[in-house]
Amino acid sequence: MTAKLAGFGTTIFAEMSALAVKTGAINLGQGFPDTDGPIEVLDAAVAAIRDGFNQYPPGPGMPVLRQAIVEHQRRFYGLDYDVETEVLVTAGATEALAGALLGMLDEGDEVVLFEPMYDSYQACIALAGGVLKPVVLRPDPEAGGRYGFDRDEFRAAVTGRTKLILLNTPHNPTGKVFNRDELDLIAAVAQEHDVLVVTDEVYEHLVFSGAEHVPMAGLPGMAERTLTISSGGKTFNTTGWKIGWMCGPASMVTAAKTAKQFLTYVNGAPFQPATAVGLQLPDAFFSRLAADLEHKRDRLYAGLVAAGFTAYRPEATYFTTVDIRPVQADGDGIAFCRSLPERVGVVAIPNQVFYANQEHGRHLVRFACCKRLDVIDAAVERLADLAS
Ligand code: PMP
Ligand code: GLN
Repeated sequence: MTAKLAGFGTTIFAEMSALAVKTGAINLGQGFPDTDGPIEVLDAAVAAIRDGFNQYPPGPGMPVLRQAIVEHQRRFYGLDYDVETEVLVTAGATEALAGALLGMLDEGDEVVLFEPMYDSYQACIALAGGVLKPVVLRPDPEAGGRYGFDRDEFRAAVTGRTKLILLNTPHNPTGKVFNRDELDLIAAVAQEHDVLVVTDEVYEHLVFSGAEHVPMAGLPGMAERTLTISSGGKTFNTTGWKIGWMCGPASMVTAAKTAKQFLTYVNGAPFQPATAVGLQLPDAFFSRLAADLEHKRDRLYAGLVAAGFTAYRPEATYFTTVDIRPVQADGDGIAFCRSLPERVGVVAIPNQVFYANQEHGRHLVRFACCKRLDVIDAAVERLADLAS
């Protein structure tokens, strides 16, 4: 194996979902819903298969999907993209991220990002020969446990060696939604140092009351330096379809496309028009999606608090992070997650794997709420046994 991948092993998601299958535990680890999404979207995929959309789609993605992505960005955020040169369909957001990082980074280029971070960031930056410059997100007791960062630490991380700022909002695993004030700072620093921004917004529609998703590309002076990445998996409960996309200036999309074409070339022909149907659903679909998930978030959060954890209430996403130390004094999140299925029949994810400096996340564990309410209730009931 290449030295670039030393230490990456098997992803935590594969390990923990395999453990859930082996033990029959309730899987609140890997973030995937246990119910299907809108029937219109599922029917469109079936129809597309029957209608013969079963061969390679065009390199940039099927026009019907690219058009739907452009309309979605305009409808929700007032952002305008050219359907021919500024949009690219990818194999999930994962491939969009890989394409962007491999297509834009040179050996030694620095990438400033916030940790904890989604696990593929670190691996793709390593493959691209880039250097990671993490800025730590920490729960702020004065803000009710909302995750924040030190502004000076962020400013100091961006230097003449920085090529990219890689942002994820709404954020996995913390559930943080970067607010306008925080985004303004990031945008100002990006412009001051003339660096590009890649922003991962896969949870854009899973935002709860009190928070608002603001896309970085909409801030003054940012559209020309921001590549926005998203995917249909979380919005349409189709995580297995792996239909993702990016929108941004033609130069950034072209760089990412040049790498992406040699990864998968293309994927998911029948799922592309089906995802286009989803993106065109009325506003009510998107608000109901967030409201339903908020209800599940509340149920899981209350259960985690009742089980004795210190829980950080997420503003968005599938995930709630807890500090396990009130329940397990040694604070070893990895050992806790490996033993949890056996102890009480629940699977969770240790946040440690999302940190470059793993010590920062040793005591933190993530639970997903994208499950039926009866499943969440059953998991919560089992977790209550930890206290006894
Ligand atoms: N980014 C973040 C922050 C994620 O949580 C995920 C996981 N779904 C992805 C990217 C990958 O998305 P996809 O499944 O579309 O590749
Ligand atoms: N994004 C999901 C999570 O964080 C799934 C990731 C994966 O399976 N690679 O749980």
